[in-house]
Amino acid sequence: MTTATKRECGTCSLCCKLFYIRTLNKPLDTWCQHCKPGKGGCSIYASRPAECADFECGWLADKKLGDEWFPARCKMVLSQTQNGRPLVTVDPAYPNAWRREPYHSQLKVLSQKGVPIQIRIGRRCIDFKTEEEVTWIEGRPENSTEAAPA
Ligand code: SF4
Ligand code: SF4
Repeated sequence: MTTATKRECGTCSLCCKLFYIRTLNKPLDTWCQHCKPGKGGCSIYASRPAECADFECGWLADKKLGDEWFPARCKMVLSQTQNGRPLVTVDPAYPNAWRREPYHSQLKVLSQKGVPIQIRIGRRCIDFKTEEEVTWIEGRPENSTEAAPA
C-alpha cells in the first residue's frame, strides 16, 4: 500500500497507447500521435479531447492500490467498462503481465470476493474468474472502455 497523498502520471503515458480515442480516431494499442512517452507525455495537454481529460485511471484514483500497480511498471491500466466492471487493460507487448505476481494473486482475491474483473489484451477480452473469452459489444470492437460481455 502507498502512503502518497497525491499520485501523478510522471513518466507514464500508457493510457495514451492502450485506449481507443474516438475523437482522434486513434486505434487501440497504438501510441497517440500527440504523445511523447517519457518526454513530457501529451503535447496537446491543454486542448486534449474530453475523453482523454475524463479518463479515470484506477491507479491514480485508488490509493488502496499499491505502487506496484503504477501502469508504466506493471504494464497494465486499471479502469472500468461502461457498465462499471473493473477492467484490466494489458499492454500487448507484455501479454502475460496479469498472470505475473504480485498481480495475479491480488486480482484473484478480488475475484473471489465477487468482483467481476475483465482482462483485455489486444482484441481478446477475458473474464478473469473463468478465463473464458467474453464478447465485445457488437459495433464497438475498437473501444476497450466499452468492452463488456454480450
Ligand atoms: S495510465 Fe494512469 S498513470 Fe499512466 S499516464 Fe495514464 S492516467 Fe497517468
Ligand atoms: S491527445 Fe494527449 S492525452 Fe489524449 S491520447 Fe493523445 S497524448 Fe494522450
